[in-house]
Amino acid sequence: MTNSRQLHLVTGAGGFIGGHLVRRLLEEGHAVRAVDSKPRSDWHQAFDEVDNHVADLEDRNACLEAADGAHTIYNLAADMGGMGFIENNKAACMQSVLISTHMLMAARDNAVQRFFYSSSACVYAADKQTDPEVTALKEEDAYPAMPEDGYGWEKLFSERMARHFREDYGLATRVARYHNVYGPNGTYDGGREKAPAAICRKVIQAKLSGDHRIEIWGDGEQTRSFMYVDDCVEGTLRLTASDVTDPVNIGSDELVTINELVSLVEDIAGIDLQRDYKLDAPQGVRGRNSDNTKILSELGWAPSTSLRDGLERTYRWIHDQMSSS
Ligand code: NAD
Repeated sequence: MTNSRQLHLVTGAGGFIGGHLVRRLLEEGHAVRAVDSKPRSDWHQAFDEVDNHVADLEDRNACLEAADGAHTIYNLAADMGGMGFIENNKAACMQSVLISTHMLMAARDNAVQRFFYSSSACVYAADKQTDPEVTALKEEDAYPAMPEDGYGWEKLFSERMARHFREDYGLATRVARYHNVYGPNGTYDGGREKAPAAICRKVIQAKLSGDHRIEIWGDGEQTRSFMYVDDCVEGTLRLTASDVTDPVNIGSDELVTINELVSLVEDIAGIDLQRDYKLDAPQGVRGRNSDNTKILSELGWAPSTSLRDGLERTYRWIHDQMSSS
């Protein structure tokens, strides 16, 4: 990299959030290095003006090379997906600890100025999420620990490791706990998709095929909040630039049931579907919402895109992809 501007490294840049983050960093005039293990043809978004690399960041040397000369690192790379993926791939999810560990070591060894880690609402203790009438999750609810099996344990361990790299080595780490992110340019089929994209896809399929039925995982009364990806990127940049060292929720606090989510998408599509509930499908916790008290007090900001607005944009994008394929 010959650019004299400060270099921002995004790992997992071929992924959903990583692609949006790279685009935003470019818009802001930063020099960007983008690394992902997938072949470039599979990246959700790719930009020629970026220093693009395909590398497996489970490998320590690959992390050292990726971090070389970086001023700021956004470590988003992880083997992950929606509930269908993380409930059936616990070992694979936990193996991302190699990425987290080697990226922290590489950041320390390259004297990187800022290190951002994307943790997850899946770190929160299961017994605080058994009721759909949820009390929103505050950051301190992660302990005593009983996170989502596999994926959540890796995230909690890695965010704690980031803390100890800050305390022991002076690495300036920042940690976000993202809550369900959705938007255009993400996965909507293949098994790693999350609820908003999956429901958009199913509604579009029903519309295109004329078979007006939809399969819903669970009884549809489980609750969640969903954050539009632009808010996720905005929060990531604000948190990384801030002095806030403890993990912070970055999530929407607009709580809906999955049934309400389906109704919203049906409304956008102008269709009414017969609902078939698959009660033995992976569902995750019963209820989950983001408590935004801390982000508001620390950053004076919180995600604000309404679910309706974000879903309209997401639906349009998935519809275009499915109609053109
Ligand atoms: P994503 O799966 O679209 O992106 C992750 C990327 O990491 C993928 O492109 C994948 O190829 C890459 N990757 C996996 N293993 C790698 C390796 N060994 N070396 C290099 N790259 C590798 O996921 P996303 O939705 O963009 O999520 C980004 C981050 O945010 C992840 O760490 C995820 O756990 C976290 N997160 C996401 C959400 C969400 O709702 N999307 C919620 C909470 C946390």
